[in-house]
Amino acid sequence: MHKAKDIIPEIARITVRPKDRTPIVLINCPKCGGDLEMQGVRLTCTNIECSADLFTEHFCKTIGIKGLAIKSIEKLSITHPLDLYDLTVEFLNDRLGKNGGKIFIQIRDSKKVDVVKLLCALNIPAVKSTKLNKIFSKFPDLKVLGDFDRLVEVEGMGNRTAEIVTDWYNNFDATIKPITESIGFDLNVQKQLETAKLVAVTGKLPGMSRKEFTNMMVAKGINVQSLTKNTLCLITGEKPGEGNVSKAIKYGIQIIPYHNFIKSII
Ligand SMILES: [Zn+2]
Repeated sequence: MHKAKDIIPEIARITVRPKDRTPIVLINCPKCGGDLEMQGVRLTCTNIECSADLFTEHFCKTIGIKGLAIKSIEKLSITHPLDLYDLTVEFLNDRLGKNGGKIFIQIRDSKKVDVVKLLCALNIPAVKSTKLNKIFSKFPDLKVLGDFDRLVEVEGMGNRTAEIVTDWYNNFDATIKPITESIGFDLNVQKQLETAKLVAVTGKLPGMSRKEFTNMMVAKGINVQSLTKNTLCLITGEKPGEGNVSKAIKYGIQIIPYHNFIKSII
């Protein structure tokens, strides 16, 4: 067992397995009957067409390509989700009928997603978008994912998770990253963070420490920093600092009371 997310397992009760029972171990894919194999922490079907279809379904859901359900994906005969970007509108029309054109546009538009979404769509193991946002707000560089020593410095990052992520990243860096770049995905974390939502806070927040607030925002892809000209809005708690408020007015930055802000993002 390994700790994959922020879940701490608790043993509820211990059951003793009868001696004559052996554990059930899946050796064949329930979908296509192909052989299964452990890849990192995942039990994966070795039939490349079968696993590619499921992988592509996950990819489309995550990246926001709508209308490509598994039945349609099966008609495309692709071996990796990134093959989607090689498909022509004629091919899509031929295989999917009248929806081909719409799907083509959705595939094309999906190239604009940020790097966190792309990594999740490409099935980065052991970390979700919340954790990735946390990693990148501490180290705004994609390469950090291949750097075990820096990864374990991130709050809540265990050794095993860091190991799984670095293994995955090193393989991604060598094989998949060049393809994503040639397709036109933007992998510049630093640039994306600069244009990401930046908010500043002043005053005491009700029932929440500043650190808890920052973590909650990071999970939503919002960065909490000191007030600068680039700040999107200033959130005011109890007794807001006069310096910050007058600076926000001077820069023309929107001032939003904490309660209104929370309501607007939940
Ligand atoms: Zn299978």
